Amino acid sequence: MKLLKDKVMAEGIVLSDQVLKVDSFLNHQMDPVLMKEVGAEFTRRFGDERITKVLTIESSGIAPAIMTSLELGVPMIFARKHKSLTLRDNILVEKVYSFTKKESNEITVSKKFLSSEDRVLIIDDFLANGEAAFGLARIVEQVGASVAGIGIVIEKSFQPGAGLLNKAGYRVESLVRIASLENGAVSFVD
Ligand code: 5GP
Repeated sequence: MKLLKDKVMAEGIVLSDQVLKVDSFLNHQMDPVLMKEVGAEFTRRFGDERITKVLTIESSGIAPAIMTSLELGVPMIFARKHKSLTLRDNILVEKVYSFTKKESNEITVSKKFLSSEDRVLIIDDFLANGEAAFGLARIVEQVGASVAGIGIVIEKSFQPGAGLLNKAGYRVESLVRIASLENGAVSFVD
């Protein structure tokens, strides 16, 4: 997606060979016009999949996920990373190791919002080792629903997540694919 590539080139900050910071449009300040385009692009790619729900993880997945769900005309659910007083019973829980925080979190979704009939599109901001995406997929599968696909805004293709998800049989669509962050520079796969 050219618009997104240009934005990454113009505003992405390479923190290390492994980590890209995009806090001016996705991870802190958010660019609503770009997010709208992201939602339209995921809809172009997954529009034929008969999706009934979009699922993401708080907080940076929420903007691309809500714009996608708006385009698809289905609800969006975000998994919570922190225990909530109002979300205690009837919950689906999975353990996810956080790439950026280097710790395991339990992510939770209320059973109320997913059923075995659902075809779920998983959306996330970044793909690194695939921990978050696999955790979300396990939540979907716990209730017998199916994962229709996984949409990623920025894939770091030099890390194993995309390969592992493909190998597990999931359809992964990433809007930009980064080949390397070495020497402080972003280079793309294509
Ligand atoms: P994974 O679970 O695939 O190992 O990592 C993906 C998750 O970690 C995403 O939800 C994202 O929040 C975070 N993440 C992974 N790599 C990066 C990165 O380079 N930059 C930022 N800002 N977040 C990342």
